[in-house]
Amino acid sequence: MLKDFINSHSNICVLTGAGISTESGIPDYRSEGVGLYARSNRRPVLYRDFCNSADIRRRYWARNYVGWPRFSSIKPNSTHQILKKLEDLNKVRCIVTQNVDNLHTKAGSRKVIELHGTAFRVMCLSCNERICRYYLQEIFDKINPNMTATSQMVRPDGDVDLSQEQVEGFQVPSCENCSGVLKPDIIFFGDNVPRQVVESVRYNIEHSDSLLILGTTLTTFSGYRIALQASHAKKPIAILNIGKTRADDLAEIKVKGRCGDVLARIYSMIDQREECTKC
Ligand SMILES: [Zn+2]
Repeated sequence: MLKDFINSHSNICVLTGAGISTESGIPDYRSEGVGLYARSNRRPVLYRDFCNSADIRRRYWARNYVGWPRFSSIKPNSTHQILKKLEDLNKVRCIVTQNVDNLHTKAGSRKVIELHGTAFRVMCLSCNERICRYYLQEIFDKINPNMTATSQMVRPDGDVDLSQEQVEGFQVPSCENCSGVLKPDIIFFGDNVPRQVVESVRYNIEHSDSLLILGTTLTTFSGYRIALQASHAKKPIAILNIGKTRADDLAEIKVKGRCGDVLARIYSMIDQREECTKC
């Protein structure tokens, strides 16, 4: 049982995906029936296209600009909060998240590895300068005085839908340091997870006693690879997800359900005495 899995381990690596953020109001791409892929024909921007096309960057940033006030104000839900409590109980070694929404950090978790980066930071493709996304919003506001940032429909990376005219008139700034191209500090489809992040995850898996996978189908290889590493290292794996995942065969426990509901029930049943880290 998942309750026993959490009770009997005290150095858990947790791997999270879009499925844990849906209850905060961020739609995911792939959940069965309810994911964005299931509901529309929209697909995320590819890394190669973003780098090669000023038009694609303009459209991306225009939507991202309009969606930012809502996206950036989204709050963590009970899953993020329970993971923070499990960290306080010295159960959780680290959280590796595929999400770029910053919700683990907002919930107070301290040991978070952002596998696919974060939408809250912006990088320059030429000089590697990094700036805060809130700061970029101020620049967008200044150079786009006629554009209003309002929208209800937010996508997993903060994107929204806009008309062609709105997109064409949108001004995109370049890097203040070198005039290079600005890109959100997230791993786009077709881009690679930085080596130091991969190494950090590998180290944490090796030194953990188990892997708990929450709210992800592991369709993306960078996430699936973590399940493979844990399996090769003979770490027990538990999965809680709304539907099938790519790692179901590797797990000793698989629970089908919504993370918020199931985790809240389990948390109320587990032993909440703090684990001593010295003995
Ligand atoms: Zn630069």
